[in-house]
Amino acid sequence: MSKQKLYYGKDIEVMFDSEVCIHSGICVKGLPAVFDLSKRPWVNPDGDTSEAIAQHIDTCPSGALTYKRLDDDIQQGKRDEHASC
Ligand code: SF4
Repeated sequence: MSKQKLYYGKDIEVMFDSEVCIHSGICVKGLPAVFDLSKRPWVNPDGDTSEAIAQHIDTCPSGALTYKRLDDDIQQGKRDEHASC
């Protein structure tokens, strides 16, 4: 059973799948205003620009983090690439 959670932002939606995460910690390094394990929710999709968040999510090695840009439909990210996972 997949453990997916969706975090809604103004310009970007961020999806996290805890069963896919390999706990590399990359997400929490670099964008502390967006990914902060000490906060609930731990993902704040309005903590930086959608561009910066999208670029950071692209570095997630497992595909546990994906996103959908709401400010530009053409720039939809890895969410589609990992749709079959
Ligand atoms: S970067 Fe991806 S794999 Fe690493 S801890 Fe974050 S969600 Fe998990």
